[in-house]
Amino acid sequence: MAKVVYGSELSAELKQQMKQKIEGYVARGMRRPCLAVILAGDDPASHSYVKGKEKACQAVGIESRMHYLPATVGQKELECLIDALSQDDGVDGILVQLPLPKGLDEDSAILRISPDKDVDGLHPVNVGKFFLGEEGFVPCTPLGIMELLKRMECDVEGKRAVVVGRSKLVGTPVARLLQNANATVTVCHSRTRDLASVCREADILVAAIGKPRFITKEFVKPGAFVIDVGVNRKDDGHLCGDVLFEDVEPIAAAITPVPKGVGPMTICMLLANTLQGYERKML
Ligand code: NAP
Repeated sequence: MAKVVYGSELSAELKQQMKQKIEGYVARGMRRPCLAVILAGDDPASHSYVKGKEKACQAVGIESRMHYLPATVGQKELECLIDALSQDDGVDGILVQLPLPKGLDEDSAILRISPDKDVDGLHPVNVGKFFLGEEGFVPCTPLGIMELLKRMECDVEGKRAVVVGRSKLVGTPVARLLQNANATVTVCHSRTRDLASVCREADILVAAIGKPRFITKEFVKPGAFVIDVGVNRKDDGHLCGDVLFEDVEPIAAAITPVPKGVGPMTICMLLANTLQGYERKML
């Protein structure tokens, strides 16, 4: 039976530590850290994600500034707002909720975020710094995955890690973080041949595919550490991961559930990045 590691519990502990730190700064007369969030359009999922981020900011004492724009907003107007927030000394982090409505250019919008405030780690300057090993911002989900591995008491060094998925936001950066932690890393994708046998070599298996319950026990080496990043909606409306939990849990050393696994850690790392941006500027 695997140790089931809940991101919901770990994030609550980390948020408590952040809250204490922030209250300490405020007690010393400093302002609170501030995250600005831009949401364009009325996609219900995006609204719910943004609400979650706002609540999480409140819980730790980070000021959140919400900017709701209509789906019809023009690229110029969006970028003017990003420019203003980039220049505002009272703002430490800027998050543009993706995807943007049709007709808006995401890459161009991200380029307007000051790299010092790019708490999602999506600006090419931060992507470059990350791959060069320089200090910048690293995307939140991969950071959360590394914290979960720590909580699993998984010593990454020397382990064989397999990441299924190579997206810019998850698969590619988590593979890099694992490599930085001295794992030997294989990245798999939709054209990988004999995926199950590659995955079975993994001491650490990260599933970031977006295919419900795709990873069964045939993909998992007994005793592996399994991180399930997938968030998929089942027909009954409930969420499930990329891993068939009940199949894999009996043979893994440790596993994250969905929900309450990686998801809460992503939001927690967004707060941590915002606090980091604030500390770099204020301390
Ligand atoms: P994505 O951009 O769609 O990337 C999916 C990756 O999976 C691609 O690299 C794709 O390969 C690969 N893939 C697809 N089918 C495959 C198959 N049959 N065999 C092997 N690889 C396959 O998705 P993403 O943004 O990385 O997200 C992945 C999942 O994580 C989604 O369920 C998403 O909702 C979830 N997610 C969760 C969080 C969180 O906080 N919990 C955060 C972000 C994402 P190709 O490159 O060859 O197409």
